[in-house]
Amino acid sequence: MQVAIIGVGYVGLVSGACFADLGHTVRCVDRDEGRIASLRAGRMPIYEPHLDTLVARNVAAGRLGFGTDIAEAVRDAEVIFIAVGTPARRGDGHADLAHVYACAREIAGALQGYAVVVTKSTVPVGTGDRVEHILQTLRPQASFAVVSNPEFLREGAAIADFKAPDRIVIGTDDERARAVMRNLYRPLEAGTRILFTGRRSAELVKYAANAFLALKIGFINEMADLCEQADASIHDVAHGIGLDRRIGARFLQAGPGFGGSCFPKDIQALIKSAQDLGAPTRIVETVAAANEQRKRRMARRLIQACGGSVRGLTIGVLGLTFKPNTDDMRESPALTILTALLDEGADVRAYDPEGMEQARALMPEITCVPDPYAVAEGADALALITEWDAFRALDLPRLRRRMAGDVLVDYRNLIAPEAAAEAGFHHIGVGCRATPPAPRARLARARSARRGARIGTPLAASPA
Ligand code: NAD
Repeated sequence: MQVAIIGVGYVGLVSGACFADLGHTVRCVDRDEGRIASLRAGRMPIYEPHLDTLVARNVAAGRLGFGTDIAEAVRDAEVIFIAVGTPARRGDGHADLAHVYACAREIAGALQGYAVVVTKSTVPVGTGDRVEHILQTLRPQASFAVVSNPEFLREGAAIADFKAPDRIVIGTDDERARAVMRNLYRPLEAGTRILFTGRRSAELVKYAANAFLALKIGFINEMADLCEQADASIHDVAHGIGLDRRIGARFLQAGPGFGGSCFPKDIQALIKSAQDLGAPTRIVETVAAANEQRKRRMARRLIQACGGSVRGLTIGVLGLTFKPNTDDMRESPALTILTALLDEGADVRAYDPEGMEQARALMPEITCVPDPYAVAEGADALALITEWDAFRALDLPRLRRRMAGDVLVDYRNLIAPEAAAEAGFHHIGVGCRATPPAPRARLARARSARRGARIGTPLAASPA
């Protein structure tokens, strides 16, 4: 089949490459000329494991091409995907649909013959109606259907998720469009449940799924706080509840709060839509507020471990992206934590396997170094913020020897506390007991706290 994909970001590029790999002929278009030039030169504009090989293979086979001309891509396509960004609208948190509607207008101008126009972008309930209205108004004679086909792939595992999803949701009441979409996804049909729903339901499935996952994370984080106060272990509690099949073990890892390009903005958009429709989602509102507070509290955890002030201290940071195996920094907890540390007068030195370029653009004040051991050099404290596999096997004694202090705040519970203690760290995880600081380090921290109190603004104690 001939497929056009508008928007060559994480979703559009992965979807385009995967559809081509399934045998379809795919034209990916983006208004960002630099992005397209880079792809044409064989350079990936994003980091996603194995994406470069997949793209190269399908470009070479003549099934995948890139361009900037939407009209040209749309003209011959049987299926046209809108996969552009839907960020939070500045000021009110609603999803900003300007890019989606701009695509609809461009598509309207180029439609020839019957085509299925698919919103793959995450959009609020009712957006498909509006896209349909735009197309109908601009091209009353055109033959088309508007379908919702939300995407559930996870960055870092996007290709596997696309090719073997838990389900494919297709929202349409149009029989012809349903047949076209079934044909498109036929190569995946054997191993995947294809769920046909109404268009509005499909739009809501995506938001409801993200809100539910965020709720699980928010819940386990709250339990982690409780474990810290109750001298219990979040590992045991999460394991104990996760074995219940009604709950399930996934998304029960306590941490610094969720971030990323989807959860925070999708939850806000759901909250706004629900309010507009007169059916406010109180639970989701609470999860969103609690998560924002948590990210801010996470910086205090480190500041307190440093004696109440980080002014003039060097804080080494391991991991910047919102999760491993991506270069995506959008809404990463690292942004909130590092901004607070910088505001408190710390020098921040950081390493991330893929995210340093994006991080530097967002926080020019941080110093990026080429590896974890350079992060530790002379550092007063370390913060492990993203659970990259590469950090699992760090040589802890080597890290510790390079540091001036002994604090390791492990926001992902990646390092075994016993191993950290053995290497001489004062290890502070999430939802579990901290290992005690070495007596010498305790003295140094008390001195640093006194210095901080003299030259900086001491922080009020808070139960971080
Ligand atoms: P992205 O920001 O990585 O990419 C969007 C692309 O669209 C950019 O390259 C941009 O230049 C292009 N674009 C914007 N307006 C355009 C226009 N008018 N014409 C042509 N190109 C245009 O976004 P993303 O992360 O791929 O997300 C896309 C959508 O998919 C969003 O709605 C998002 O919520 C949803 N989604 C994302 C993920 C994810 O993990 N990133 C997962 C599922 C769903």
